[in-house]
Amino acid sequence: MDHVQQHEKVIVIDFGGQYNQLVARRVRECSVYCEIYSYRTPLEQIRAMQPKGIILTGGPNSVYTPDAAVCSPELFSLGVPVLGLCYGAQLMQHVLGGQVERAPEREYGKTEVILDEPKSALFDGIASPTTCWMSHNDYISRIADGFRVTAHTANCPVAAAEDAARGLYAIQFHPEVLHTEHGFEMIRHFVLDICGCSGDWRMDDFAERTIEELRSRIGDGKVLCALSGGVDSSVAAVLLAKAVGKNLTCVFVDHGLLRKNEGDMVEEVFGPNGPYDLQFVRVNAQERFYKKLAGVTEPERKRKIIGEEFIRVFEDEAKKIGRVDYLVQGTIYPDVVESGLGGESATIKSHHNVGGLPDYVDFKEIVEPLRNLFKDEVRKVGRHLGIPEKLVSRQPFPGPGLGIRIIGEVTAEKVRIVQDADAIFREEMEKAGLDRTASQYYAALTNLRSVGVMGDERTYDYAIALRSVNTVDFMTADVTEIPYTVLKTTMNRIINEVEHVNRVFYDITSKPPATIELE
Ligand code: GLN
Repeated sequence: MDHVQQHEKVIVIDFGGQYNQLVARRVRECSVYCEIYSYRTPLEQIRAMQPKGIILTGGPNSVYTPDAAVCSPELFSLGVPVLGLCYGAQLMQHVLGGQVERAPEREYGKTEVILDEPKSALFDGIASPTTCWMSHNDYISRIADGFRVTAHTANCPVAAAEDAARGLYAIQFHPEVLHTEHGFEMIRHFVLDICGCSGDWRMDDFAERTIEELRSRIGDGKVLCALSGGVDSSVAAVLLAKAVGKNLTCVFVDHGLLRKNEGDMVEEVFGPNGPYDLQFVRVNAQERFYKKLAGVTEPERKRKIIGEEFIRVFEDEAKKIGRVDYLVQGTIYPDVVESGLGGESATIKSHHNVGGLPDYVDFKEIVEPLRNLFKDEVRKVGRHLGIPEKLVSRQPFPGPGLGIRIIGEVTAEKVRIVQDADAIFREEMEKAGLDRTASQYYAALTNLRSVGVMGDERTYDYAIALRSVNTVDFMTADVTEIPYTVLKTTMNRIINEVEHVNRVFYDITSKPPATIELE
């Protein structure tokens, strides 16, 4: 599936920096296709990819130690422009004859950078000084022959250096992070002006081209897809539906732990009355799941039961379908990189099914049409394909669903309570326009019951906890500052409209110390 081969391409060489995926994203935001490779990738392989430009990322090593991550000196004489960022900049200097040492003064955080050569193509149009994000212990104490210093800071004599004739650029700060005020412009200057990319990477032709390729690859093979109602599997399914029509069977397991009306929404889009020509199987397995979950209170066990039961149900359905040639997975690029296949970042997510094939269904090959895309690109493709906005902009939702937003035992009644409360909270957030800025918000059902009075009658009912966070990467998160009036309206409606709730809490804990989901 090489729909990307005809695109001009920039390669990011990963030295283990924490922002490496961001570098690739920024390049793609310039409409230039970009892939991440480990620094261990042989030079021949890189040359064969005919990149228009190469970017070396930051990394935890110090170039002067014996076990440091290195690259071949020939990388700098391929005739392809190279941009080194932080560790990448230090490495470029080190390899080409400059010197890197432990800095007397390390720099961390926002730093004023003085641009010494406003005519540098990298800094074109950017006023000096400019705020940049620094994160280093080492510094370039002497630049390599042929280079000139193009920027410095109070503590760092070489904040940037270049040898424009050879197309080599080294910058000590991180242009890929948003804290670097004009970082995106610098990256754009590099890929468009210096590398000469035209910016031909468009999500629109991605969809059309991918559909064409899927069609020729699959022919009249039979394809099976597990739909979760999430963005990735929905977009993957639509691409496949457009490519092979009725040879695609989508199995949607309703485990009874979805948000209110979500199952019906998925059916509306993918079912027989929806716009796509495919085979749709909805398995209403609610009872089956509730039975398995009866009496179980421990979160890890609940997760396990839900996961296992899901596979069992899916397997039963796959058997009914008979022959399956291809299994669709909604793998996206961060899954690939984080599994250690693309870049260098340690195996952060070993649970992703990248490379390791599920063994519970017999099939010939796996199809992952989104494996080169970032999440926001997947959403763009989804919009281009006309998938309803509700599905395309769906918030992250845990695989075990409401099973883990109900603390303690899961019962059908508790599911109903949390679904109704959650729907009200979401409506009120939308009315207040907070849905556009909050990253994830929902209602959870605590296992706490307490005494209340309603209509002069004593109650002994549940407490709902509301959670809403703002975050960019979901690694850390801040609580959303919801205006009091919105919280009060939500509380009022939940108490009035949802039976068996007599208290509403708002969880104001950030992550860390807490996490985003409650259980
Ligand atoms: N480890 C190198 C230093 O401390 C590079 C750091 C980085 O790339 N962020 O200077």
